[in-house]
Amino acid sequence: MLEASGIGARVQVRHCLGEALALLKEEPFDCVLLDFHLSDGLAIDLLSRLRSQPTDVVPAVVVTSGYGDESLVVQSMHAGATDYIAKERLTPGAIGRVVRNSIEKMHLAQELDAHRSRLEAANEELTRQNREIQSFYHTVSHELKTPLTAIREFTSLVADGVLGPVCSEQQEALQTAVSCCDQLTRMVNDLFDAARLETGKLSLHCSQIDLSALIETELKVHRPKATDLGITLTQKIASKLPQIEGDKNRLAQVLFNLVDNALKFTRPGGRVLVSAKPLLNGEGVCLEVSDEGVGIAQDKADRIFDRLYQVDDHSSTLRSGMGVGLFLCKQIVELHGGSIRVQSTEGAGSCFFVELPRQSPHRSCSCATAAATASAQAAPNVQPSMP
Ligand code: ADP
Repeated sequence: MLEASGIGARVQVRHCLGEALALLKEEPFDCVLLDFHLSDGLAIDLLSRLRSQPTDVVPAVVVTSGYGDESLVVQSMHAGATDYIAKERLTPGAIGRVVRNSIEKMHLAQELDAHRSRLEAANEELTRQNREIQSFYHTVSHELKTPLTAIREFTSLVADGVLGPVCSEQQEALQTAVSCCDQLTRMVNDLFDAARLETGKLSLHCSQIDLSALIETELKVHRPKATDLGITLTQKIASKLPQIEGDKNRLAQVLFNLVDNALKFTRPGGRVLVSAKPLLNGEGVCLEVSDEGVGIAQDKADRIFDRLYQVDDHSSTLRSGMGVGLFLCKQIVELHGGSIRVQSTEGAGSCFFVELPRQSPHRSCSCATAAATASAQAAPNVQPSMP
């Protein structure tokens, strides 16, 4: 029938499993047409031997047997048969079609396998590189912290006149150096936090927080910078703001990043507003930081919370930073059980909305966790020694 099927196949016939396997070892075949019951075994024995062989050329296997035995079909397909045909349906035309289709199916399956292996290898490589980046973040930030703390301490000592008198110009220059150290320390800490967040090692130290006080404190920090930049920084806090449960330092970090960005991306003469009000359901607080800055294009707005993402059409002066601030904000807000989103119009400004629930899902965080967090957050204790 195969010869008459018109597929132009070179056919070899063997009557028992042993002979068939021996032949398959000797030369590659495109397709094996197999009776389920053979004199020395079952089709599934041959199938399992064939499928377990580490060979590049695996033939398609079509199993055949009498009508009415569906369990054989199931067994054959489970064992790796490419197709099944009932003996009663065997005609040259049908057999030609089944064999041709099975060979095609086999080739497609092999291509798919090859694709899958390539994807798996690429995925493994990406995971390895990601792990390397995380450990690089961790090492770099850890290694930078110690000398940075020392530079800051010594510079402060000189600026404060502890090591001898300094004139006002020298003091001003040294104060600039101190604030540059502080900025660098924040960046190093951001890198350190990003590495800890991705390995799930950043936990919260929760307590009841008065957000209006936290906003006041943060805005005090930013006011001199806003004044220098000619930007009006204002606040609007609802009178009845519920207390929320959260990590004060971490939420301050979120607010710091949002206000810092708002100032960075707003031109002189613009306005930045920080507001806070209760959520409509009364079960939390909505914090908003809006600016009249450059804004963000719609297609970029979703990506700004990704690690290391920076909008590439912002000028290089505006792009100073590392692209981890908003990533950290999102992770910290989500650890609190809240959410963060942005609404923006290119050229007109942006508004970041942070919604925080009254109770953090981490309310049960233990003293041990809190202590571990606090000690991990603390900068290395470098005692400046006299030169
Ligand atoms: P960066 O250190 O670059 O500021 P962020 O993660 O804080 O990193 O922000 C990611 C990017 O999102 C920024 O580089 C900027 O392109 C965009 N962005 C963030 N905040 C604003 C904003 N208020 N106005 C316009 N673009 C913003």
